[in-house]
Amino acid sequence: MIAAAGGAMMASPALAQTAAPVAAPLPQRGSKGADILGPTNDPRSAEEPFTQAPPATDHGTMPNLKWSFSDSHMRLEEGGWARQTTVRELPISKAMAGVNMRLKAGVVREMHWHKEAEWSYMIKGKARITAVDQDGRTFADDVGEGDLWYFPGGIPHSIQGLSADGIDGCEFLLVFDDGGFSEDSTFLLTDWLAHTPRDILAKNLGVPESALAKIPEKELYIFPGPTPGPLSADLMGGAGQIPKTFSHRMLAQEPIRTKSGRVRITDSTVFPASATIAAALVEVEPGGMRELHWHPNGDEWQYYLSGKGRMTVFGSESKARTFDYQAGDVGYVPYAMGHYIENTGDTTLTFLEMFKSPRYADISLNQWLALTPHPLVQAHTGLDPRQIDALSQTKAPVVPG
Ligand code: MN
Ligand code: MN
Repeated sequence: MIAAAGGAMMASPALAQTAAPVAAPLPQRGSKGADILGPTNDPRSAEEPFTQAPPATDHGTMPNLKWSFSDSHMRLEEGGWARQTTVRELPISKAMAGVNMRLKAGVVREMHWHKEAEWSYMIKGKARITAVDQDGRTFADDVGEGDLWYFPGGIPHSIQGLSADGIDGCEFLLVFDDGGFSEDSTFLLTDWLAHTPRDILAKNLGVPESALAKIPEKELYIFPGPTPGPLSADLMGGAGQIPKTFSHRMLAQEPIRTKSGRVRITDSTVFPASATIAAALVEVEPGGMRELHWHPNGDEWQYYLSGKGRMTVFGSESKARTFDYQAGDVGYVPYAMGHYIENTGDTTLTFLEMFKSPRYADISLNQWLALTPHPLVQAHTGLDPRQIDALSQTKAPVVPG
């Protein structure tokens, strides 16, 4: 399929002994294209073979639908970091934004709130999360790999890294239901305290002003906190527990299994608190493919957890553009645009799909064709009637290679 392969540069024999040169694909496919005479960023080009040499079916002007967290600014703090992919990094992503955060054991993402709802997937390690709602009801839980949490907009919460199973803290992905979100613009407890007159604070808390001497002068944001005790000690009672729990064990869900993959779907039907974000965790074996489909309910924000994948997005008016993704990348599919995701690597491709919607929904091309009168489908496709009859009327979200 790819005309281009290797030959872009010759490494010196000395270099070749220590590290294989990166074979950047050339912008050539069949009789079209030519080599590159000017400067190139070969490792970068090698990540995007179908951008260097797009398939002949790609056409027209489509917006960029890819961002790598590797290109996001890292905010370094004591014992942790945060980086984000928002409408500022990926301008098409108006519906949702993402944050990738690391907290070492004991390190706290300080008590805060924000306008947007926060959905999260724990990538590795463990954390303790807490929240309080408008009725004085409380929530606390310890979340581990494959667990989710969801905090509605405006609800105050905290996150602290835990030490468990030999892992120092945790790393997680946050998704917000507004692409304009900024992790640097949340409402922080310490920021508020620092910007309230001291006599007002003293009056409000019922303490003398002298008791306020240790209030931080500026926000803490991410900082080493107190050593967490058992979860039972952090269950605060109050007016009772928040009735729709803010955490969910996504990996404990039984997946939809197909010949070449597995899909777990988590929306408000199984995780009632998650009123504005629906998600799917998709695993595709080598050669397999997330089938051609689209979503009738909004944009899709993707996060690649492992492996390599390729997606072509069809945007009507003959527009189509192909992107290559790998672990750590973000993909985006605007509302209603058709797409597939093929595993192009030799390991399992794992990714998350998120939607700003209470319910998960997709339309399968195969199912649509199978359930439309077959002479009509034959007139559109020219397929043999027996091949149309063989199409599955039930969805197979991952098809084999
Ligand atoms: Mn938050
Ligand atoms: Mn999709």
